[in-house]
Order: sequence, then structure tokens, then C-alpha cells
Amino acid sequence: MRYEGPIYRPPSEADSLLIQATVGCPHNRCTFCMVYKNGIKYKVRPVEDIKEDMREAVGEYGEYVRTLFFPAGNTIAMKTDKLCEICHYAKDLFPNLERITVYGSSQYIAGKGSDGMKKLAEAGLSRIHVGLESGDDEILRLIKKGTDSKQQIEAGKYVMGAGIELSLYVILGIGGKERTRQHAAETAGVLNRISPDFIRLRTFVPKINTPLLKDVMDGTFVMLGPHEVLRETADIIKRLEVNSYLTSDHYTNYINIEGKLPAARERLLQIIEAGLRKSENQFRPFFVGKQ
Ligand code: SF4
Repeated sequence: MRYEGPIYRPPSEADSLLIQATVGCPHNRCTFCMVYKNGIKYKVRPVEDIKEDMREAVGEYGEYVRTLFFPAGNTIAMKTDKLCEICHYAKDLFPNLERITVYGSSQYIAGKGSDGMKKLAEAGLSRIHVGLESGDDEILRLIKKGTDSKQQIEAGKYVMGAGIELSLYVILGIGGKERTRQHAAETAGVLNRISPDFIRLRTFVPKINTPLLKDVMDGTFVMLGPHEVLRETADIIKRLEVNSYLTSDHYTNYINIEGKLPAARERLLQIIEAGLRKSENQFRPFFVGKQ
């Protein structure tokens, strides 16, 4: 198997076979993201190379492959027909394959429309991880996400409507002190319109070589402290009216919470309340992310 550039995968894909279909990210502008900055340019690998890697994996792992993840920043941006082709190919090759997953930003999903998502679902694509980050348009503009709340809702509905599982990522603290209220209210509002299968919480950690780290260092962006992040989390959860599994499955978070909403709401809020009773110096310290 051949890999090029940094290979990232969500924690939930820890047991998945990783086959690279694209390299880099076609957007590559988000101010908090260091993934492909100054690195490799976005490209789609030749379909024949992708298939060759899959054939090699059959020899190694064959019937043990139950989940397959096509890594890199925005594999959903591949031409729909090519992505369908490799999904079909994977299903034919791996007899016990249960799930095929990619990362995808809302602007590329919206570009494919409802029909594109349905085609991909028929081909076997079964889960998409989307960086919602925030539902607040001003924050989305400031972080240069390349999309807005209207398009994020539209894209989310296309994915869910096609029967593809949707995993939406929210970055706690991405509005800083200045927009924490708007971030909580607008993010909950967008999540309520979509009701995704999964809501995955990450806490903002400034990363090296990113514009947002520079803003943190020169004081233009004031980060939330641990208690403020917990209050923002509680604010979001109180506003949610979704049937979604919420999880904070990431090392950046101050506390671990997970459960199916709405049933888990009170339990999650109690865990947050307990966290707020701890002193701030009992949480992880500030650090600059290097990966
Ligand atoms: S956050 Fe995602 S869409 Fe934004 S630059 Fe990084 S990989 Fe690309």
C-alpha cells in the first residue's frame, strides 16, 4: 500500500483499512488547520492505483476487513463516478465489508447535490465525517471554512436523505471569548436542523503554522479557559433537539461525555456540572498542537 502526505483518520476509524484515494485538501484554507499547509497539493490518485492498493490489502487482510476509510482532507471532492467506482470495487473485493467512510466538507457535498449523494450511497459509501466546526456564519467566515450555515444544513440533509451516516464535528471554543454565545446558539440551531447520526466534540487547540495561532499569540483571538469551554458545551447541549449520538472522543477535550440525545441530556449536563466544580488547574494545560 502506498501513502503520500500526512494520513489522518478519526478515532472511530482506528480499526479500519486505510486506502488513500486523494492526497491533501482542495480547500486548505481553514485558519485553525495545519494539516496540509505548506505541504502537498491536493490531487486525486489514479483509480487504477487505488484499486491496486486494495488488491494488495485483500492479500494481507482479506475477510477481516469490515470497515474501510479513504483518508485525506476531502475525499468527497473526488468526481462522483470515480468515488462510486472505488466503492463498488471495494465491496466486490472484501466479502465482509460493512462500512466505507470518507471525510467531506459541506461545500463539496452540496456541489454533488441530493442525486450525487444517492449515487454514492448506492455504490456503498456509508458514512461521511464533516467538519461543521460552528453554525455561526461570522465564525465560519473568520475561520475561512469556505461554507456557511445554510449550505451546511443543505449538505447535511443531502447526506442524511441518501441514507449515509453523518458524523458532524463541532469545535468548542472556536469563536473565542468574543463569540462563545453565538457559537453555542447557532451551532445548536444548525445541528437541530440536521439531526445527524453523530455529533463529535473537539476543543480548539491552536496548531503550529496556522493563522489562528498567530491571532492567539498577538491577542487578537482570546481563547476560552476550561470552565468557559464547559459552559459553552452545556449551552449547546441544553439547546439541542436532536436524535444524535454525542461524543467527545478526542484528546483535546477537558472532559469525556457521550450518550444518545435526547435521553442522555441530563446525565451529560451533570457530568459537566461536576467538571465545573473542579478548579481550572486540574484540567490539561494550554498547549500548541503539533499534529
Ligand atoms: S479543516 Fe478540513 S477542509 Fe479545512 S483545510 Fe483542514 S482538511 Fe481542509
